[in-house]
Amino acid sequence: MRAIQNELGDKVRREEEIEELRELIIKAKMPKNIEEKALQELARLRSTPTAMAESSIIKTYLDFLVALPWHEQSEDSNDLVAVKEALDKNYYGLEKVKERILEYLAVKIMTNKNPQTILCLVGPPGVGKTSLAISIAEALNRKFVKASLGGVRDESEIRGHRRTYIGALPGRILNGMKTAQTVNPVFLLDEIDKMASDYKGDPASAMLEVLDPEQNANFSDHYLEEPYDLSQVLFITTANYLENIPAPLRDRMEIVELSSYTEHEKYEIAIRHLIPKQLEAHGLKEEQFKLDSNVIYYIIQHYTREAGVRELNRYIGSLIRKSIKEILISKKEFVHITKDNVEEYLGKPKFVHNELEKVERVGVVTGLAYTQYGGDTLPVEVTYYKGKGQLVLTGKLGDVMKESAQTALSYVKANAEKFDINPDLFKENDVHIHVPEGAIPKDGPSAGITIATAIYSALSNRVVRNEVGMTGEITLRGLVLPIGGLKEKSIAAHRSGLKKILIPKENLRDLDEIPNEVKESLEIIAVETVDEVFKNAIK
Ligand code: ADP
Repeated sequence: MRAIQNELGDKVRREEEIEELRELIIKAKMPKNIEEKALQELARLRSTPTAMAESSIIKTYLDFLVALPWHEQSEDSNDLVAVKEALDKNYYGLEKVKERILEYLAVKIMTNKNPQTILCLVGPPGVGKTSLAISIAEALNRKFVKASLGGVRDESEIRGHRRTYIGALPGRILNGMKTAQTVNPVFLLDEIDKMASDYKGDPASAMLEVLDPEQNANFSDHYLEEPYDLSQVLFITTANYLENIPAPLRDRMEIVELSSYTEHEKYEIAIRHLIPKQLEAHGLKEEQFKLDSNVIYYIIQHYTREAGVRELNRYIGSLIRKSIKEILISKKEFVHITKDNVEEYLGKPKFVHNELEKVERVGVVTGLAYTQYGGDTLPVEVTYYKGKGQLVLTGKLGDVMKESAQTALSYVKANAEKFDINPDLFKENDVHIHVPEGAIPKDGPSAGITIATAIYSALSNRVVRNEVGMTGEITLRGLVLPIGGLKEKSIAAHRSGLKKILIPKENLRDLDEIPNEVKESLEIIAVETVDEVFKNAIK
């Protein structure tokens, strides 16, 4: 008797469940053909015994279908003034970036549809790309969702797996849409430059379909099997490195570049935005937390080494948490953090002020590099020892840098007499060039003159001025070719305490990119030939 009752109970419950799903399917207002398909699947679910794996596959599929937004939309606020106010209120500086974003949105508001191109915010970590995208969503009154593309190498991560697999899943785009619950969110595709392609297909070509306004009304996801309309979504992408974005994708995008902050900018951002936000988040009142302004500079210089303000923000958070603990335990009215007691809170400083070589040496020259984390100084070391005239290169150099090294050596060799170097030195010795600083792969053709100077210094046994940094590519004839990333490089030079930088003459046109405070503290010398470089850098 009980067995019969149980079975009947199960049957009734299952009928109810199926009925519920049917209602949800109708309520979801899917396009007609998809609704029909969903109802067919529902019929299949009904006739499949629950114990079969197939049953749960169908159920998961139908649950996903009804969870996707099919028509819910948020009403756009088309108030450009409000957007402008929000950006001005939440971000310090970034004038050009804000202007570009406003222009972009102005077009959207005027035409009442998404612009043909996709906004791509390019810049090092922690300079505000993600939070800008969130601000845009808030100002437009749209939902915000984010999918990180870093490390995506498989097309199915974008487009989903076919349902024939057990455990098949939809791709990141549709998962994002499910989270958004509206058909018109602001959808941030983070780190689009970090996608890689391999034998499992090319995620970049799937992304092309996502971002192409002509095609994305019919985006196909392998799991969904039916086209899904992405045309209302406002996609925004971010990247650390412009060069790493596949070219066809880059063509679709409107690039807005953000660059590293100077110490002064970081200080202002901390005072105006990071500290007030953190105080509020931790429920501490302004008068309970006093922080001397030189402490902020101290933290920037000695505890962080970054292009953006992430670490700085973390340290401020940590100071505030420690202060709260102190206030609660020692019953203090407020905590006052000064340069003298900051170490008690944060521990020993992580970085010595400037990475400038303390003593002037032979064969060590400071180059300036442009990395994903903004600019950095890059020391180049050269030495030589008895050998057979070979060139030894170490320090994870990329191909371009290896060729630079070869060219630099050939130039010094070819002009040995002019530089007072005994030509036999090259025959009887091996020259070893090393670029220390961890195992970061180094590429980008801008260390040519740095290497040449280090070789010249080592072989002529002349001392290099330690307050000079340089960047520039070299030709066999000893000319200095222009470089990219002058702004980041000059900020790095300033940060590390260099006094003088040598830049290629052709880069003079980029001089107005360099922040004033950097220009004031750095002597910038434009050079045309390697010989001028030697004159300025060698004692
Ligand atoms: P990214 O996405 O570029 O790595 P985030 O958007 O995560 O950077 O930014 C890190 C933090 O720094 C955020 O809290 C952001 O609000 C803050 N921030 C960055 N730049 C500024 C700025 N110019 N003004 C105010 N806050 C900023």
